[in-house]
Amino acid sequence: MGLSIFWFRRDLRLSDNRGLYEALQGPNPVLPLFIFDTDILNALPSRQDARVVFIYRELERLQKELEVAGSGLYVAYGKPKEVWKALFDTFPITSVYTNRDYEPYALQRDLEVMEFLGSKGIPFHAFKDHVIFEELEVAKGDGSPYTVFTPYSKAWKERAQKDITAFAHYPSESLARRFFPTPPFPMPSWETLGFQPGAFTFPDRVVSEKRIRAYGETRDFPSMEEGTSRLGIHFRFGTLSIREKARKAWSLNDTYLNELIWRDFYSMILANFPRVEKRAFRPEYDSIDWLNNEQDFEKWKTGTTGYPLVDAGMRQLNATGYMHNRVRMVVASFLSKHLLIDWRWGEPYFAEKLLDFDLASNNGGWQWAAGCGTDAAPYFRIFNPTAQQAKFDSNEIYIRKWIPEFGTPAYPPPMVEHGFARSRCLEAYKAGIELGKKKFSGTR
Ligand SMILES: Cc1cc2nc3c(=O)[nH]c(=O)nc-3n(C[C@H](O)[C@H](O)[C@H](O)COP(=O)(O)OP(=O)(O)OC[C@H]3O[C@@H](n4cnc5c(N)ncnc54)[C@H](O)[C@@H]3O)c2cc1C
Repeated sequence: MGLSIFWFRRDLRLSDNRGLYEALQGPNPVLPLFIFDTDILNALPSRQDARVVFIYRELERLQKELEVAGSGLYVAYGKPKEVWKALFDTFPITSVYTNRDYEPYALQRDLEVMEFLGSKGIPFHAFKDHVIFEELEVAKGDGSPYTVFTPYSKAWKERAQKDITAFAHYPSESLARRFFPTPPFPMPSWETLGFQPGAFTFPDRVVSEKRIRAYGETRDFPSMEEGTSRLGIHFRFGTLSIREKARKAWSLNDTYLNELIWRDFYSMILANFPRVEKRAFRPEYDSIDWLNNEQDFEKWKTGTTGYPLVDAGMRQLNATGYMHNRVRMVVASFLSKHLLIDWRWGEPYFAEKLLDFDLASNNGGWQWAAGCGTDAAPYFRIFNPTAQQAKFDSNEIYIRKWIPEFGTPAYPPPMVEHGFARSRCLEAYKAGIELGKKKFSGTR
């Protein structure tokens, strides 16, 4: 008897999981698999990473759910291609199912695995599950990708209205008897993974309708713990179905729906313009002469710039792995514009710390804030961190929560004067962009 493997990656749930549903509909019993990928794990800077802990706990949850269905989750550890080779010695695999992942590393990994499986005559079925619309499903009239959010979101909504699969529910749980019957498999130990477990707490995956309804009024105030949904980590690892949340958002709150559309937008940008991973979307911005001062970068990282909103945000990030969106915009703008530090220094710092780190959204957010991305605010609009704080944390609840020494002599004065930093930024950006434009027009 043959079996199908369902390969979990960014979709750690049994319920409403498109690829899993398709696998369970197939002719063979399904064995679920997860691979702790050493290429990813070994690149993490700390041996105690909250995201690894999150994944581990979610896998344990899946193990339990599968045990109820008389099956188990096979959790492997290694380089994916090597793991796949070894799996063939253990199981009579006849087909492989998964959900698509659009990050450049994942695309390359999947290509290699697909080639390997192809050499054995095994089909590799990959499905859309991580986003509502992928790559060019929402495109301009001439078939090219949108690069501006507003028309994209309009076209997205038009398509969602017509496409009955957009928010479809895939009831994998109803097919539980199609899992491969097996006693549970052991999880790899923490020693094997080379990580420490750690006592982290994570945001709840259940969010009240009331909170989503109020989102438009509450989302901009970082002191409001429940002002946003905090679902980022669940969307990142697929412990929630994006279709289910988008369906709810459609009926509950258009502002919230728009945020989910931003997520699709950046995923679409990364898929169509993979160069953004390393370079500015607007190439002329790659000629800016960044100052890249190491000491300034250290002050930004440790939240000691003397700008309370920036410092509170960075301390929140360092302590919890989360930072409010409004504050992400301010700290990212501050790094690239006030300090003239290349956004590609800030981006990996966020990647290291954020629980909800997602390459496409992080890159999109950073390029937006630095002014070099799709749909970016013009570079001459520079956030004033003091004015932002007066507007969005006027009663100082957020800054006082994260900066206990605020208002005492122990808190440093601003590391750079706003007016001076603003003029310096305008000059550097203008010169860099002009130089870049000349380079690209071939006149230099
Ligand atoms: C510099 C910078 C870096 C960022 N890095 C990331 C990142 O690594 N991962 C990430 O998911 N988001 C990132 N964002 C977007 C946004 O800040 C977070 O999605 C949001 O703060 C997460 O909190 P929440 O779950 O409470 O979001 P909510 O406000 O409740 O929004 C719901 C969901 O919508 C999506 N969303 C909201 N805003 C955006 C946005 N601007 N772009 C894309 N998706 C959005 C997210 O999936 C989010 O969980 C970044 C923004 C900036 C400015």
